[in-house]
Amino acid sequence: MLKYFPVWKMVVTFLSDSLVARSVETAPGSRPWVRGGGTVRRMTARPENAHQARLLRLLRDNGSNSRAQLGDLVDLSRSKLAVEVDRLLETGLVVADGLAPSRGGRRSHNIRLNPGLRFLGVDIGATSVDVAVTNAELEVLGHLNQPMDVREGPVAVFEQVLSMAAKLKAAGLAEGFDGAGIGVPGPVRFPEGVPVAPPIMPGWDGFPVREALSQELGCPVMVDNDVNLMAMGEQHAGVARSVGDFLCVKIGTGIGCGIVVGGGVHRGVTGSAGDIGHIQAVPDGRPCACGNRGCLEAHFSGAALAEDAEQAAREGRSAYLATRLETAGSLTAADVSAAAAAGDTVALELIREGGKRLGQVVAGLVSFFNPGLVVIGGGVTGLGHTLLASVRTQVYRQSLPLATGNLPIVLGELGPVAGAIGAARLISDHVFSPA
Ligand SMILES: [Zn+2]
Repeated sequence: MLKYFPVWKMVVTFLSDSLVARSVETAPGSRPWVRGGGTVRRMTARPENAHQARLLRLLRDNGSNSRAQLGDLVDLSRSKLAVEVDRLLETGLVVADGLAPSRGGRRSHNIRLNPGLRFLGVDIGATSVDVAVTNAELEVLGHLNQPMDVREGPVAVFEQVLSMAAKLKAAGLAEGFDGAGIGVPGPVRFPEGVPVAPPIMPGWDGFPVREALSQELGCPVMVDNDVNLMAMGEQHAGVARSVGDFLCVKIGTGIGCGIVVGGGVHRGVTGSAGDIGHIQAVPDGRPCACGNRGCLEAHFSGAALAEDAEQAAREGRSAYLATRLETAGSLTAADVSAAAAAGDTVALELIREGGKRLGQVVAGLVSFFNPGLVVIGGGVTGLGHTLLASVRTQVYRQSLPLATGNLPIVLGELGPVAGAIGAARLISDHVFSPA
């Protein structure tokens, strides 16, 4: 870890200096930002107690609200509520937002979160990165996606992330950030925000992501596994809104599963909960990067699908894939979905077979966890309804009727911004909690 730190500092300092300078020049005086210790930090106020934290989260999730409505939602006396709301107004975290329609008596005042609050959501995948700026309600104000190879290591990747964040700022979307959430495609020791021996991420083991980025961005940073963030994104703004217990399977280069229990992400003791890619799907099956055989990920994932497609192309089983391979030099999961959309039978069979393998594993999870919803997302959602049909068939056939009787299995709604919205949600949970 120490080996990387000085290099990292040199690479990013020039980038962030220019970022921070701009943010301070334009900061309006009423905002709770201060300059201190030589580094400019955007010191966003934090709630003082659990009541204030709850009010902030309600305003984040429901938008502008009248004092009367908030009073109905939280169990506080009118006078106690008034004290907490006034305190939040003083901190600048919330602002007055006009008068609410009359409910029969005196009209109540609306309040909302400060419209100047900005969160940065970063979703680092194995082969690309998404960076989004959101407001306090976690609406995406701007979003960039760029190809990137996570194997280049944290220094190169974060240089790119910072330059993407700078572009979004230069476009006028943010003057500074009140917090940033970062998703990485591997297990994370959550309290410290440090990746742990990530199999597809050489050079990342133990890298102090949270600490380094917090220094560079001048705001609090939280780090989590990309799959957990996708689940949180779908929970906040996507297909899992209002679902308390669900599974979110992400099929990217690898495969993983976000587990939401009672409204919160279950990470497990060491942060590796939901690492379903290495559950055995085929006894004595293909060798896997982890050293075992027959792992789900070795038989069905973005990488496995691309390999199978290339083999089919080379063996002359699919003219469509062979042409794509000849043009591009290699194939990806996106080529398989394009081939399937064009009616290529080999591609359709690969997706069906993959869906069956995935369905076998999901059926086991459903019996074990009894979720209210299963969401399937990630880069391969382009495989769409063929995949979904195959997974559903397998799960409904294999799991007990009591567990599947009322179980929707659906595709994610948010596409490539799911992880970035989840990242913004993660850091907003932190900022909207008592310091
Ligand atoms: Zn494995």
